[in-house]
This record gives sequence, C-alpha cells and structure tokens, in this order.
Amino acid sequence: MAHQWRGVVREYADRLDVSDSTPIISLGEGGTPLIPAPALSARTGARVWVKFEGMNPTGSFKDRGMTMAVTKAVEAGAKAIICASTGNTSASAAAYAAHAGITAAVLVPEGKISMGKMSQAVAHGASILQLRGNFDDCLDIARELAENYPVHLVNSVNNDRIEGQKTAAFEVVEVLGDAPDFHFVPVGNAGNYTAYHRGYTEELARGAAGRKPRMFGFQAEGSAPIVRGEVVRDPETIASAIRIGNPASWELALAARDDSDGYFGSISDADILVAHRILSSEVGIFVEPASAISVAGLLERSAAGAIPKDATVVLTVTGHGLKDPQWALRAADGGEVSPTVVDVDLADVAGQLGLAANAPA
Ligand SMILES: *Cc1c(COP(=O)(O)O)cnc(C)c1O
Repeated sequence: MAHQWRGVVREYADRLDVSDSTPIISLGEGGTPLIPAPALSARTGARVWVKFEGMNPTGSFKDRGMTMAVTKAVEAGAKAIICASTGNTSASAAAYAAHAGITAAVLVPEGKISMGKMSQAVAHGASILQLRGNFDDCLDIARELAENYPVHLVNSVNNDRIEGQKTAAFEVVEVLGDAPDFHFVPVGNAGNYTAYHRGYTEELARGAAGRKPRMFGFQAEGSAPIVRGEVVRDPETIASAIRIGNPASWELALAARDDSDGYFGSISDADILVAHRILSSEVGIFVEPASAISVAGLLERSAAGAIPKDATVVLTVTGHGLKDPQWALRAADGGEVSPTVVDVDLADVAGQLGLAANAPA
C-alpha cells in the first residue's frame, strides 16, 4: 500500500504520551498545508505563510487535539465523552466518538452555533443539548458533569488536547526548516495559542529549531478578556468560534506570551470581515470569520510598525469557510450577494461578463 499521512498521533508517537498498545483513534488529521501568501507579503513586506487548518477531517484544528483526547479516553476505558463547544469542538468530538464507537455528548449555547457545525454534530450522532446560556456556562456544566458522572471531558482544559495540537508547530518547523519570527493565532479559550508555544519550545529544546517565534494572539473586540484583563460576561462577535468571555487556558497563555515576548490584541468585527475578504479574494483561502482574525492581526500590527521587513510570519487560520459561509455572501450594504440572472444567450452572457469577441484570424 502506498504511504499516506497517518494522523498526528502516529506521525509524532515518539513525542506524545502513547505506547505500542494505545488504541489510536484517528481520521488522518494534521499534515495540513503551509501556504505562501504573496499578496500578504506584498501588503506587509514580511514573508507570510498561512497554516490552513480548515484542511483537517472535520474542517478545523480541533481534530489535532481530539484524536489525542479520544485516544487517551478510550485507552482509559471511557465509553462516553463530553464537551462544551462554540461549534467546532462538538463537530470534532462527535466525529472521533463515532469512529471510536463511543458516545459523544455536547453542550452548546442556544442559537449560537453555525449551521455547518451543528449539521456535523447531528450527522455524527452526538447527543446535543442547547443550553440557555453562553459558552462559558456550557463549560462550567461540562466540567461538573465530568467530575460527577461517567463521562470524559474533552475540552482544551484536558491536557491531551493541547498535546495533540502542539503538533502543528512541529509541521511548521519541518516545512520552514526553523521556527518563524512571528506566529499569529486567533484566541478563544487560548488552548491553541498555548499549544503552538509548547510545540515550538520542544522544537527548540531538541535542536530542530534555532529559535522560538513571538506568539501574537488576537481576540474579537467584543470578546477580549485577555486584552482587557477581565472576564467578559456577555461576549459578542460575529466570530463565533472565539466568542468566549473567560478563557480556560488564560494563565497558560499569559505565561506563553511572556516567555515568547508575545502579544495579545483585539480586532473589530468590521476589520475581521475586511481581512476575511482579503484572504479569500487575494490568497484563495476560504475560512470562517474567527480564522480571519490572524490576517487582521497581521495587517494591524504591520501598520503599527511592529513587524520588521523580511520577518518570517506564520498565520494559523483555524477553520474552513464552509463551516459558516453566510459572511462571504454579505454585500457591502448589508444585503445578500446575488449573482445576475441572464438568458441562455451567448452574446448576452459575454456582454454581462464584459468580454469583447476575438478579432477574426
Ligand atoms: C476553537 C477555535 C478557535 C479558538 O481556539 P482556542 O484554542 O479556544 O483559543 C479559533 N478558531 C476556530 C475556527 C476554532 O474552532
């Protein structure tokens, strides 16, 4: 059989807490492309690469952590897992539980999950409850359930999640031959920010990289507890994946920022949507709104003079655009983009496209 990528737990087994007898639950996650972005390089003067995590099996980076968390849960004999979710964790947990033949229960904030993500959790057969509260309320209940009932928590407060997610940094170092100067990530619970820093720290320690990147994390303005230094009670943003007011990995993320000479900033929803359009129309990468904040963060920091010319910059874009496609269809006036309808008529179609016929040969 020809070689294919075997998923992050098998590919990095020597750097994760697994043994030969561990029952690995994988859907082939990881091995995602690191894509050069000349349009962003031209805008900033830096060498910009995009780590496209929407290419994972369920369409977000959550799969890297979920393969590890579900693997360890099954190894420990768990028959059921539980998570709180803004959408992608539930999609991922549901898929890996289905693959493992165990039950997934997911708690989501009522009416706040994009249709794409909800449809995944439903399709994979999870038990889904919508709570009349926000994500932070869902996580509180999930933690208490895991303490008092026979269900295994797979949110990023579970260290196995962070361990699986750190493999993305390994992949970046493999492609670039070293760590970048800067790494930009969207920040919700700050688990991924923490995971990249851990991965890079390990790469430096084993000599695969000669440096660690400065970790730059971005929250949406209406949902920026780390930037503001206080819990946000009613977080609001169109970027639902980072609509989190009390990040689970807050302390770890602050330590990672201090260790890497990093930065946390916030971005308005309007600027997130501008960056979303730039990434799709100039680079060709379609992401969900939360992911575009990495791009918005780079443009903002570059304009502030914080990114030296020729610096190597990696932007993680965390989730696929098909998860939450409505934002791409929003016209400037707030209405919906609706392509022009024409008759089946060659001249008419050519005219509408602004094409003039070729000159006779
Ligand atoms: C989960 C998620 C985030 C936030 O990651 P954290 O580890 O919670 O900071 C960002 N973008 C997308 C698409 C996500 O699914």
